[in-house]
Amino acid sequence: MQYAIVDDGRREAFRGGRGTCPTCGASMHAKCGPRVIHHWAHQGRRNCDPWWENETQWHREWKNLFPEPCREVSHTAPNGEIHRADIKTPTGIYIEVQHSRMTDAERISREAFYQNLVWVIDGKPFRKNFDIYHMLPDPMSDLAQDLVWSKAARRMNGANRGLFFRVSANQDDFPGATKATLRSGWIEGIDKIEAEVKASYRGHHQYDWVRPRKTWLDATCPVYIDFGDDWLCRLEVYDETGLKCIRLVAKRQFIHDVMTEASVADIASRFYSISS
Ligand SMILES: [Zn+2]
Repeated sequence: MQYAIVDDGRREAFRGGRGTCPTCGASMHAKCGPRVIHHWAHQGRRNCDPWWENETQWHREWKNLFPEPCREVSHTAPNGEIHRADIKTPTGIYIEVQHSRMTDAERISREAFYQNLVWVIDGKPFRKNFDIYHMLPDPMSDLAQDLVWSKAARRMNGANRGLFFRVSANQDDFPGATKATLRSGWIEGIDKIEAEVKASYRGHHQYDWVRPRKTWLDATCPVYIDFGDDWLCRLEVYDETGLKCIRLVAKRQFIHDVMTEASVADIASRFYSISS
């Protein structure tokens, strides 16, 4: 942990330090070796929070993007259950930064416990399994309402560059077809509509995650993957066809929004800084 209570205040670990856990009151020892992130550890037993993950440099960098009082904040449920969130913003958003794999059961428990929760996942361990493909138009745009995209996947070289059916162009062959029902027809390439797509681009792309960490695809709280770039990849469902997509959100905007929005649903919803 980054903090223990020392002399009635929260302190970061220092060589030879002794303190108490802000959550359970147990004694803590500072760990300040040359090859570890300086941290506090419970004396003689496991962490009192079974959800706690050993901290990496990546965890610590994320926490340090936020003011000190936002880091390692305990939350008690009405039934008395207590856990420590990595980050809680002044507006009441909980952020859990997660490096390791997680079971469905734990992911579901944590979402139920914190509720107004957003996940930030360390993507570096699986970056080589994660491909980002062509742009998609804003799913709310008029253009998007007419297009059914062919699902991109690694080695699907056509679909990866952008192939689609137009609902309007296939009404003769499939009368009454809608986006939700049209699954074949006259196929077109994105190069024909590239300018229109760019004009309504809001960060959405097709992607393929080979051997995905599936629990994140089923999450009910928003999931943002951090590959170590200036933007995060938010996992989304694009439209009523069920097409999965990612949306690129500038890390700066994410940090601004979690500090000002009250609900995780409103993160990255108000304005869009474009990266391409
Ligand atoms: Zn404790």
